[in-house]
Amino acid sequence: MGSDRTGLRIGLTGGIGSGKSTVAALLVGRGAALVDTDAIARTLTAPGGAALPALLAQFGPDCIDSAHGGLARAWMRDKAFSDPAARRQLEAILHPLIRDETEKLATATPAAPCVVFDIPLLVESGRWRDRVDRVLAVDCPEEVQIERVVRRSQWTPDEVRRVMAQQAPRLLRRAAADAVIDNRRDTFDALQAAVDALWRHWIDGR
Ligand code: ADP
Repeated sequence: MGSDRTGLRIGLTGGIGSGKSTVAALLVGRGAALVDTDAIARTLTAPGGAALPALLAQFGPDCIDSAHGGLARAWMRDKAFSDPAARRQLEAILHPLIRDETEKLATATPAAPCVVFDIPLLVESGRWRDRVDRVLAVDCPEEVQIERVVRRSQWTPDEVRRVMAQQAPRLLRRAAADAVIDNRRDTFDALQAAVDALWRHWIDGR
């Protein structure tokens, strides 16, 4: 699946606060190209974004923030949390657009030893598995996830738990991965060493 031009395609996933973005940055530091599906989702729903017409048709004017014309994120988040059907409709609109844009960006990236696809919901949304060569999961205990997100974003622990409840359990994510980086310790040195070891194994050893 990985072409010579773009190198190995790695799907990177992890629960909120696991350290997924930090690992993505370390991989970029080693020369990986990065395609960030969260950033793509934000662009698609920003003012003028390609997903807005379909979202407006599905959810009505409440889903648009009248101040800037982009998606009313808080409204949409609450709706998706409280109404599973709305969540499925939202995903049915967004996911195909995200996948198309991801492919476009991956093709447009300059040649690199690997392309990292940062996909928070890789395990949950199923369709990503056959678009990447390897899956890498970043993992840590749930208490550590909560503590990190509270520290990073000033969310309450309950807000973090609400998001975590919508994500795949750690066990499933680990089971779906070809390799797991254990990021329970709050030290960047240990994380860097884990990324270096993975790079030697997956990229240098190819
Ligand atoms: P995610 O992308 O999985 O939500 P982040 O990579 O943003 O998580 O990490 C969450 C927070 O925890 C960030 O503020 C990050 O700097 C911090 N963090 C992650 N891993 C470590 C680590 N090994 N040592 C210290 N801080 C870390």
